Amino acid sequence: MASITLKNLVKKYGDGFPAVNDVSLDIADGEFIILVGPSGCGKSTLLRMIVGLEDITSGDLLINGERVNDKAPRDRNLAMVFQNYALYPHLTVFENIAFPLRLNKGKYSDDQVRKLVHEAADTLELTEHLDRKPGNLSGGQRQRVAMGRAIVRQADAFLFDEPLSNLDAKLRGQMRSEISQMQRRLGVTSVYVTHDQTEAMTLGDRVAVLKKGILQQVASPRELYEQPVNLFVAGFIGSPSMNFLPATFKEGNILETAVGDIQIPEDKAAKAAGKKVVLVGIRPEFFEDASLVEEHKKSHGSTFKAHITHTEWLGNEQYGYIHFDPTPEVRELLDNLARDMDAEELRPQVVVTLDAASRVRGGREAELWLDTRKIHLFDPESGDNLT
Ligand code: ATP
Repeated sequence: MASITLKNLVKKYGDGFPAVNDVSLDIADGEFIILVGPSGCGKSTLLRMIVGLEDITSGDLLINGERVNDKAPRDRNLAMVFQNYALYPHLTVFENIAFPLRLNKGKYSDDQVRKLVHEAADTLELTEHLDRKPGNLSGGQRQRVAMGRAIVRQADAFLFDEPLSNLDAKLRGQMRSEISQMQRRLGVTSVYVTHDQTEAMTLGDRVAVLKKGILQQVASPRELYEQPVNLFVAGFIGSPSMNFLPATFKEGNILETAVGDIQIPEDKAAKAAGKKVVLVGIRPEFFEDASLVEEHKKSHGSTFKAHITHTEWLGNEQYGYIHFDPTPEVRELLDNLARDMDAEELRPQVVVTLDAASRVRGGREAELWLDTRKIHLFDPESGDNLT
């Protein structure tokens, strides 16, 4: 197994904007790390640089401390698991898994090949399918054959390039947990590329968020969710997304927003000292139906009235929507934010998560409680999280 070190890696295609821009990252031996970001952020390019399918423009790539920039892919001993599995339809599952061993003619006897393939098939619960062709397998089983191929090679690390994006939602969920369990059982260093933040949050030990080739934050899923370093990470991680409310400091620690005044804790206000305008970041679940909040808890937050335009009932919870009329200044802030996040538009609305038991309904006024201890304050210019 291997540690992988990225030192100031840059990739330029032609003389354009760098697809990967000064990325440094230490991946520990046995770690499962996820590269995530929107389309075009450079995550596939970065993975292809690690495996050797793409030249490195500048910077160093180290595997177990050794610089491998100029090593051919086959000499890096890394196994890539692709989106389309890259299985041979005319070969049986056995031969598909054995393929990398057969390429190394002379290195493995037939007995060794049989032993390695059976061990991998056993780990992956594929033994009973060894004589079948890929065409007769489910998507999940094909995925496991592709992993089997990586396992028999006894590669130092597995590299996954969006392996689940061809599967339907249910299978994707199943395969996600299979890959996660498999990786932990094998303890093999793994780098996994996805644009799906749910996949990123549920699979990895750590998640690296990329935007336009630049690494934004590398952290555990929990830390990313609870302490995003900037607006981009805050908006990208979490579903429904974090609400961003433009706000002006009125007096002391009172913020004026389009949905009413919010009194925030002194320590948070102090961190935004000197700023007149901030963007308040509020995850939908920071809100609660005030009528369901215990009295002693209420003092830790702010209670206010809002017009709920409509609600969506999901069985275990509900989403409530609050629309507001943005002033021209607020509209401009939202438009700038949308550009920064590569979103088409940010609607002037706030989404709140409500308990399934809540009686709050669309078309009516509701009293909501906001846990102000949890809110984030962002600098609208730099996008940095000030809190
Ligand atoms: P996606 O999720 O859509 O695959 P990605 O995050 O993996 O996106 P990359 O495929 O790494 O992004 O692409 C990063 C940037 O580099 C994009 O702007 C892309 O257009 C550009 N790019 C990728 N491959 C090439 C290439 N062979 N030649 C020129 N530009 C390229």
